[in-house]
Amino acid sequence: MTSQDDRLYRNYTETTPQHVRDFYSDNHRFQTVEFVNAQREKYLNHSHAQMGIWEALELLNTVIDESDPDTELSQIQHCLQTSEAIRAKGYPRWFILAGLIHDLGKILCLRNESQWAVTGDTFPVGCPFSDKIVFPEFFEANPDLKNPKYQSEFGIYHAGIGLNKVIMSWGHDEYCYQVVKNYLPDPALAIIRYHSFYAWHQDNAYHTLMDDHDRKMLPSVQAFQPFDLYTKHDLPPNVEQLQPFYEKLIAEFFPAQIDW
Ligand code: FE
Ligand code: FE
Repeated sequence: MTSQDDRLYRNYTETTPQHVRDFYSDNHRFQTVEFVNAQREKYLNHSHAQMGIWEALELLNTVIDESDPDTELSQIQHCLQTSEAIRAKGYPRWFILAGLIHDLGKILCLRNESQWAVTGDTFPVGCPFSDKIVFPEFFEANPDLKNPKYQSEFGIYHAGIGLNKVIMSWGHDEYCYQVVKNYLPDPALAIIRYHSFYAWHQDNAYHTLMDDHDRKMLPSVQAFQPFDLYTKHDLPPNVEQLQPFYEKLIAEFFPAQIDW
């Protein structure tokens, strides 16, 4: 992958489409500690549905991600493209499965949640916002910026606390992680939980918050990232043809139904 290719994706500048800018304007304004805690309370008792992974993928297919400037594909096609690209490189089955399900949390869009509360890049709340986050200028409208408790060097955290104890902005990563956390190996869970945390896995921000476990997981999250991004221009995968392979893979790790 050349740096030329890098510039083709995730190009957030003056030329970014207005709807993407509007998305991040809302996202950075409204993602506060208080908001995130309310969403965690609302969703993390997992009492909203019982369904299987494939069923959730089919449900997800009705969502369009407004934060993404790069893809015209349906969500199920994006999931399968990601997992197929991982599979083609001969990675282990848990990695392929992580690719398949990494965006399943976007079904939150179907529960009347605004896009800014589901998709887009994620970042810690409760501590200073890094200027490595996309459109950092939009944080000016975030009330947490005026709370001194959150704006000291580490905010409500401390050096080496571990990302597990850091409250991330609310979205599809954290929700999906919480739904599947009992079923997958740690690197798969880190991929799902932090794949939108670009400031961390791509731009080296917030590294002082990491513990040893995070340092062990980071290479897997970084290995995943190109598959999420660079598969967006390929031909759409044939969903029906691939379904039997993936139903079998899902059954290796998950029961027929899980709590959402
Ligand atoms: Fe995602
Ligand atoms: Fe994705």
